[in-house]
Amino acid sequence: METKERRTYQAVIGLEFHAHVATRTKMFCGCRVAYGDPPNTHTCPVCLGHPGALPVINERAVELGVMAGLAMGCEVAPRAVFARKNYFYPDLPKGYQISQYEEPICTGGYIDVPTSEGTVRVRIQRLHLEEDTAKNVHVGTSGRMHGSTGSLIDFNRSGTPLMEIVTEPDIPSPEAARETAVRLKEILQAVGASEADMEKGQLRCEANVSIRNPDGSFGTKTELKNINSFRFMERGLLRELRRQREVLEAGGQVQQRTMHYDPEGDEVYETRSKEFAEDYRYFPEPDLLPLEFTEAWINELRSRLPELPEAMRARFVEQYGLSEYDAGVLTSDRELASYYEKVAFEVDPKQAANWISGDLRALLNEAGTEISDTKVTPQRMIELIGLVENGTISRSAAKDVLARIFESGESPSAVVEREGLAQMGADELSGVVEEVISANPEEAQRVREGDKKVIGFLIGQVMKATRGNADGGQVREILMERLGS
Ligand code: ADP
Ligand code: ZN
Ligand code: MG
Repeated sequence: METKERRTYQAVIGLEFHAHVATRTKMFCGCRVAYGDPPNTHTCPVCLGHPGALPVINERAVELGVMAGLAMGCEVAPRAVFARKNYFYPDLPKGYQISQYEEPICTGGYIDVPTSEGTVRVRIQRLHLEEDTAKNVHVGTSGRMHGSTGSLIDFNRSGTPLMEIVTEPDIPSPEAARETAVRLKEILQAVGASEADMEKGQLRCEANVSIRNPDGSFGTKTELKNINSFRFMERGLLRELRRQREVLEAGGQVQQRTMHYDPEGDEVYETRSKEFAEDYRYFPEPDLLPLEFTEAWINELRSRLPELPEAMRARFVEQYGLSEYDAGVLTSDRELASYYEKVAFEVDPKQAANWISGDLRALLNEAGTEISDTKVTPQRMIELIGLVENGTISRSAAKDVLARIFESGESPSAVVEREGLAQMGADELSGVVEEVISANPEEAQRVREGDKKVIGFLIGQVMKATRGNADGGQVREILMERLGS
């Protein structure tokens, strides 16, 4: 009998990111970086690629690039060189992109990425600076090149500072790839190096993926492009890995290709655009001097790094006694983290975490609002949690109050007062309990005789009579006392 060799399929993934550097002006000219402005309103001879126009390096972009690198533990080069990357495309009027090739500003470094199978250390190969291209706008109903009636070019984006960040092929799964992207985005935002908003095109990502050969060596990789969210990246990688496995199982070989993922049909397609061998004929940019970094300058930038997400997460667990999960949620966004800390300073930190990472975030998501825009200021949140802590309102009433003040921006006490949501005091509650006992003599008797199950019914009756403005535990206590159970 023939035994078929069983083979395990080990994914190998490496990511390439392009992030807009959060500068006010472009990489090599003084034009403003702006999103959503009318086309071609932020241009000059440099970013329009007019012959003879001379580039000037944006110092802030270099600082932020280096800070991003330092935040990932990269080595900063003592000297960095800009290079021309030559190719033709209508959105690149110079016929070359100013980028970095042999001497990038940062190399090495890593991101530690938690996954369901443990933490993976993803090494950073390099971080370099370059300029973005202009944007082709395809006219017609499709909005894409295919099927359009013409293309226009908006040069507002031309020359926007970009950081390219390339990881080593250290990522073992699509899930880990998604997490790597999430962590990278958090780091860039924490450092202030990029706003990294994918919807604005400030963060773009390409994924290289292959299946390891049976002898452990690397297999042929394909490159997944047009990834517009981290979820789609994960799903696209899963889909592409399935395709590669099917090719291998059928006895075929994976071809080096650029693939496009269509999330709607969950399908991957070969793209035709770049099948020719790329030869960019890089050479040093003659219009720019090499950058030279002193140790002192690098240290000064290092000293300006804020607390990084990883460290903040660990601190939240330690200092506030939060779960890893809650700490992860609350530190995933700087604004959220600082909001949380303001509240946790005044009330029980765990309660604060529940209210903010649970209830408040749910409301924000539903309304599509950012934490920075919410009417529920930290002060209001402190007040609300305080009302629960001192027993004025029940947790469920507090949820209603939160939903209302989220809309209206009122103070929690004002809502509690107006809506009569305050819980009854012990005396008033005792009165209601007496009434419920006399109205339900049979049930009360059964409780006296030791039938504990019936007490739930009586509690329900009391809660109904108080319209929910009572603490269930307290009601139970009073009932037990009265019925000697
Ligand atoms: P190329 O020469 O095709 O640009 P690089 O070695 O520069 O390839 O790597 C580009 C990206 O592809 C990097 O993110 C790297 O981690 C990743 N990569 C390299 N080899 C593989 C592989 N066999 N499988 C998956 N990703 C890979
Ligand atoms: Zn310009
Ligand atoms: Mg390469």
